[in-house]
Amino acid sequence: MERYDAIVIGAGVIGCSVAYHLARFGAGRVLVLDRTQIGNGTTSQSSGILRTHYSVIENVELARRSWGIFKDFAGYLEDEDASAGLVNCGYLIAAPEGPKLAALRSALEGQQAQGIEVQLIDRDAARDRLPIARFDDAALIGYEPEAGFADAYLVATSFARAARRLGVKIREGVEVQTLLRDEAGRAFGVETSVGRFEAPRIISTQNIWAGDIERWTGVPTPLKAERHTVLALEGPEAYTFQMPVFKDLGSPGMLYCRSYGGKQMLVSEGTAGEVLATPDNEQGEVSMDAIVEVGSQVAERFPSYETAGLASSWTGVYDVTPDWNPVLGALPDVPGLTVGYGFSGHGFKLSPGVGRLLAQAALGLATDVSLQPYAHERFRTGSLLTGKYGVGAVS
Ligand SMILES: Cc1cc2nc3c(=O)[nH]c(=O)nc-3n(C[C@H](O)[C@H](O)[C@H](O)COP(=O)(O)OP(=O)(O)OC[C@H]3O[C@@H](n4cnc5c(N)ncnc54)[C@H](O)[C@@H]3O)c2cc1C
Repeated sequence: MERYDAIVIGAGVIGCSVAYHLARFGAGRVLVLDRTQIGNGTTSQSSGILRTHYSVIENVELARRSWGIFKDFAGYLEDEDASAGLVNCGYLIAAPEGPKLAALRSALEGQQAQGIEVQLIDRDAARDRLPIARFDDAALIGYEPEAGFADAYLVATSFARAARRLGVKIREGVEVQTLLRDEAGRAFGVETSVGRFEAPRIISTQNIWAGDIERWTGVPTPLKAERHTVLALEGPEAYTFQMPVFKDLGSPGMLYCRSYGGKQMLVSEGTAGEVLATPDNEQGEVSMDAIVEVGSQVAERFPSYETAGLASSWTGVYDVTPDWNPVLGALPDVPGLTVGYGFSGHGFKLSPGVGRLLAQAALGLATDVSLQPYAHERFRTGSLLTGKYGVGAVS
């Protein structure tokens, strides 16, 4: 049996960020345990898009704080070699007349009220930024210059390296099998595939596997594992790194698109995915139907991509809560346990700020922003964080 001051379960981008921040806040001896390897969960499947655009105002603030860290990642980690792989290409979002228009207007106003630079641009200005797309149906277009995409795996491993430099121990290939609790229900350690580890603070960042918490404690985990398909399409025209990420609220699948380098576009639907019976991030089948469905929407918006070919494809799994927003903070019924799960397909852009907040919460420090809106109890009280766009990771 080994004793630590804090144990983090899961070495995805959230767990690695938590571990780094715990060390930075002087938590003492910190241990991270992962069943597989750093970043090998859903983090390695991420599309990596970074934006502060949200219809849920609390998320805007979390994303803004995280963007500040992404922008100066090496400086923040005090490691000149650290990189987030950031491409600061901006974020363009457009809606036609119809059901999404009011939500877009209100979200853009919300961002502006938070002091975020968001430009309302006309169709010509949108075409200047993304000449391969058509905007003739757009009734409202927002452009956020401080946005883009980055590499989630690189961010996770960079947080891990910085954490290790500060003395954090990361053990891969170790499965946590149960949570140890005393008679009062307080968590004091974990039983694992290699033995017992004890610590007064346990932080679970297990993503789609967070249902373990329910099995270990009886506290419900309101979560579904949803598989999504991502395509890289090779078109006749380049989608350069200078061209913005594009969110197409006019397409049936609320497509998100970004450059994948050269003439390739990374694209996926922003709606609900395939619900899995058990959490599993193994590759699923990418059906011809899915390729045709997404491909035809792409061709509608990007006419020259009518002739695009499929360069690559993969599946990834979201940890989806009923309101498509995460559960963050202490679980009141289990003192000593802090959780961060349910990122519902938009956790990467929040990972630096959320890691900080979860570390602060676990250590009993004042948090940068209140975690109350993200409390687990919202699913009991009904104070949900449902976004104005309905189902989907735009939230
Ligand atoms: C296809 C796809 C596209 C996405 N695109 C974006 C995007 O564009 N922008 C954005 O912001 N977000 C995006 N996301 C979401 C974002 O990538 C995730 O929210 C984020 O990576 C989740 O990180 P995590 O650390 O919570 O989870 P994970 O990376 O899944 O890490 C959880 C870890 O916990 C470990 N674990 C679980 N249970 C145990 C146990 N019992 N014992 C030991 N270890 C355990 C697992 O092995 C795993 O490594 C996307 C996600 C997917 C799948």
